[in-house]
Amino acid sequence: LFRSEHVFMSNDRFPTEEEQFEIYRGIVERMNGLPIVIRTFDIGADKQIANHNLPKEINPYLGCRAIRFLLREPSIFRAQLRAILRASLFGNVSLMFPMISSLSELLEAKALVKETRKELESEGLKLEPMRIGCMIEVPSAALISDLLAKECDFLSIGTNDLVQYALAVDRDNHMMSSLYSPTHPSVLRLIKIIVTEANRHGIPVTVCGEIASDPRFTPLLLGLGVHELSVAARYIPIVKNAIRNTSIVAASLLADKAMSLSTADEIDQLLNEEYKHNVPEDCIYNF
Ligand code: PEP
Ligand code: MG
Repeated sequence: LFRSEHVFMSNDRFPTEEEQFEIYRGIVERMNGLPIVIRTFDIGADKQIANHNLPKEINPYLGCRAIRFLLREPSIFRAQLRAILRASLFGNVSLMFPMISSLSELLEAKALVKETRKELESEGLKLEPMRIGCMIEVPSAALISDLLAKECDFLSIGTNDLVQYALAVDRDNHMMSSLYSPTHPSVLRLIKIIVTEANRHGIPVTVCGEIASDPRFTPLLLGLGVHELSVAARYIPIVKNAIRNTSIVAASLLADKAMSLSTADEIDQLLNEEYKHNVPEDCIYNF
């Protein structure tokens, strides 16, 4: 997962198509044929671009963020899509939209990709088809994941935001951090719905929030039917180790057990016990 906004957040203006193209191409080339998912700008709320006149909002997390911002700023969106499509000629690129909360947003974004693609083809570029996915990080999207799955090549669960929006707990508010519980039964139920629908429609589903990097969650996510985890490079060994130390049968039983529990604390405890049992030698995650 390439969070495209991070490269530009220290800029004092939005990057041009050309500037973006150069950066995306460089990254795609360095991947050397390995797949890369470029997420379109997730601007707004905690992620601002200096000097861009984003509206001042009372509840920015519920406001003009991510895909909502891009659909309201078509020239910025188009420039980014053109840059990504052009960079896709240099490797294995997929495109992903953040914070989709309705089917119409996804369809509008896809229509813009189609138009941009035509525009580039009329300029002489020979583009390959590109996989398009959407992030599921809002409960409304989770609950219509069957409809979104029909229109996507893959789904990716952004649990950092999904937890925030499902539990109505600001992910950056330290005073409320004890309420920010990825093991809340409502979160597990939402994940289960998304994974079931993705599997039913035969498309891959990834988890790309922080819980994907936490080895205590690994058997639970596998047991819920998640096929892919997107984690920062430094977590790959510890997550791989957690996978090697469970089996799909044990993971499914754990997921069933977790789904039958009623509180975040009980589920948390279950995951801790399972991890202690599976990987007793880990002194970082076992405490
Ligand atoms: C998420 O919300 O889980 C996610 C991967 O996106 P970000 O943390 O960048 O909002
Ligand atoms: Mg997010």
